[in-house]
Amino acid sequence: MSDNSPLLRIAVPVPLRRSFDYLPPDKVDPTVLQPGIRVLVPFGSQKLVGILLETTTETGVERNRLKKAAAILDTQPILPADLLQHLGWASRYYHAPIGEVIQTALPVLLRQTRAAHLKLETVWTITPTGQQTDPTTLKRAPKQAVLLTRLQQDHTVSSAALNQQYSNWRQAMQKMVEAGWVEKHSVAASPVSRPVGEPRPLKTLNPDQHQAVEQMRATLGGFACHLLDGVTGSGKTEVYLNLIREVIAGDEQVLVLVPEIGLTPQLESRFRAALPCTVAVLHSGLNDTERLAAWLAAASGEAQVIIGTRSAVFIPLCKPGLFIIDEEHDLSYKQQDGFRYSARDLAIVRARDAGVTIVLGSATPSLESLANCRQGRYQHLILPARAGDSIPPRLQILDVRKQPMDHLVSVNLRQAMQRHLAAGGQVLLFLNRRGFAPLLTCHDCGWISQCPRCDSRLTLYRQINKQRCHHCGTERPVPLTCPDCGSEELRTLGYGTERIESALQTQFPDYGVLRIDRDATRRKGAMHELLAKIHEGEGRILIGTQMLAKGHHFPDVSLVGILDADYGLYSTDFRASERMAQLITQVAGRAGRAERPGEVLIQTRHPEHPLLQTLVSAGYAACADNILAERQAAAFPPYGHLALLRAESLDPGAPMEFLEELAATARTILTPDVILLGPIPSPMERRAGRYRAQLLLQAQQRRPLQTFLNHWLPQLEQTKLNRKVRWSLDVDPLEMF
Ligand code: ADP
Ligand code: ZN
Ligand code: ZN
Repeated sequence: MSDNSPLLRIAVPVPLRRSFDYLPPDKVDPTVLQPGIRVLVPFGSQKLVGILLETTTETGVERNRLKKAAAILDTQPILPADLLQHLGWASRYYHAPIGEVIQTALPVLLRQTRAAHLKLETVWTITPTGQQTDPTTLKRAPKQAVLLTRLQQDHTVSSAALNQQYSNWRQAMQKMVEAGWVEKHSVAASPVSRPVGEPRPLKTLNPDQHQAVEQMRATLGGFACHLLDGVTGSGKTEVYLNLIREVIAGDEQVLVLVPEIGLTPQLESRFRAALPCTVAVLHSGLNDTERLAAWLAAASGEAQVIIGTRSAVFIPLCKPGLFIIDEEHDLSYKQQDGFRYSARDLAIVRARDAGVTIVLGSATPSLESLANCRQGRYQHLILPARAGDSIPPRLQILDVRKQPMDHLVSVNLRQAMQRHLAAGGQVLLFLNRRGFAPLLTCHDCGWISQCPRCDSRLTLYRQINKQRCHHCGTERPVPLTCPDCGSEELRTLGYGTERIESALQTQFPDYGVLRIDRDATRRKGAMHELLAKIHEGEGRILIGTQMLAKGHHFPDVSLVGILDADYGLYSTDFRASERMAQLITQVAGRAGRAERPGEVLIQTRHPEHPLLQTLVSAGYAACADNILAERQAAAFPPYGHLALLRAESLDPGAPMEFLEELAATARTILTPDVILLGPIPSPMERRAGRYRAQLLLQAQQRRPLQTFLNHWLPQLEQTKLNRKVRWSLDVDPLEMF
């Protein structure tokens, strides 16, 4: 090999903030060495699949010390240039190892050595003759009749789907092929659906919607960020659909991000029904092959609209025309471990680089987005009223001080529930605490049931008779006697949704009670079943957690009760009041959708609290204004920028020692425009058996913070103590623990 042959600069999936140089394999065709192809490389004792970032002739290492790549895995880049560039940007912005960033973006099957194409599957498609054949004439061949009916409905059905639903169908199908009613094809497995029949006509937009669509349409074809700020039911989805139709008519693609697809099955069917184009939905139920299929379909342009959750922000698009981030305030857009990115923020950067319009939608916009509107960076489009003829709910504070309470339900709330139930309405109660009770204690000696691995209590679950830790997942049997003193006087303290559910069943025996929380919806399909029961009116009283705040439409709910609003009022987390205002507003938005006017009762012991007062009298926007003023005074986000360095170790003293050493190094390079706070032990110091501490960096401007991190992190990677301690950096942290 000559000395000026190209070297391969590779992103290897390891937690190191650098790339690695390799010699090309022998006899490689230099034209395939395009950035974005996969390369198999020796790394330590293993072989890993890396991505070629660039070819180069410059290297810091002597050539004869470089290792040779084992194999080139692709003839075409699997990561298009724009996406590769975007991932590089993300790696620099979040100070995350490029190998891990790319690993996060790739579908599982592309992290391996296999070829980037798909296995074929067999599908059966109906012919025009088959379409005209009346299945009722097939009385003597009932199996054929069933299959023909199915095909007349769905047009194409795969063998896999048939195997799941029918036994011994092949012979009947073969007969229908011979009759010319059905054809057999091989196609790639795909989650991409084609439109069936005519798309549902869109609603005539009201003037507010119309104006919003016009403003967005005006920026299509270039970068602009719009905040579509519309109360629940104001017709944001209808606005998206209008705009999407416009974009697909110009043969461009639309990427729609949503918080959680499994929780909002309505959204998927609504999009499919209204859009005359191919739609790919990346939900958690897809297997690895289907995920790869969606990735390839988006990259080739076969999928015109792609709907997905957080990680879909990394899907390649050959003709991007519009990005939509629904419920942009939602916390699930932030990845909380590994590569900690915000899909919303990355989507905005991607849209900017691609020169594409992006729409952020919410009934309760994040303070970050509102501040960006104020600074003129985003266009603020407001839909102030509900679409159609439904009336917004009336919010009211219920002072529960000195009131008799029964399982967190005050007398006033109970009377309101009875009134609404008698009038045929549904009642929704909100409590953001799962399980039966958050605490089990001994009445004789004061023992408290602690998680053995965390500084936290175990939550009691009655139905399964277990105690469970919400932080590490530890499960324990419920003790019959006190482990400390042997007493049998064990008491539960506090209330979770499971306990309220069973109390309601006793208090309202004539009405079905349904619980909607993470425990009740864990099983696949459980959410679907619950939603069906709610819509059929089988459950008249619903009790649930924040899961209820996510995009569901409950047309018959006329009363919402917030059982305990005090929870978020005095928290140490500076974001707690923003979250509280969002949650109450979102839950309240479930009420009074159709003709029934809604009522929202907020139980509190702090009726004079300014946050609640403002929310009730002036709404979320006014509340957000107040919180923004507080943030500005404290130079907290969105008016300041944060980075949080977390460290954890099995050794109790190690994280603090490690961070103190780093803080000392940091002080030698710190500029006055960056403030270092800590280290302090994390609010919950021990979690899952590890001790944790954190160091906070705060700056008015982003740039000096980034510059500081660029200098500091390389030193950090060389610290000796490193081996005992696991650390991670969180740029723009959303949770401060
Ligand atoms: P959001 O996404 O803001 O919660 P949706 O788009 O789901 O609101 O609209 C709420 C309800 O109002 C839906 O039932 C929708 O069909 C209806 N709707 C939306 N826009 C209109 C309109 N312009 N005219 C009549 N009904 C509308
Ligand atoms: Zn005891
Ligand atoms: Zn635990």
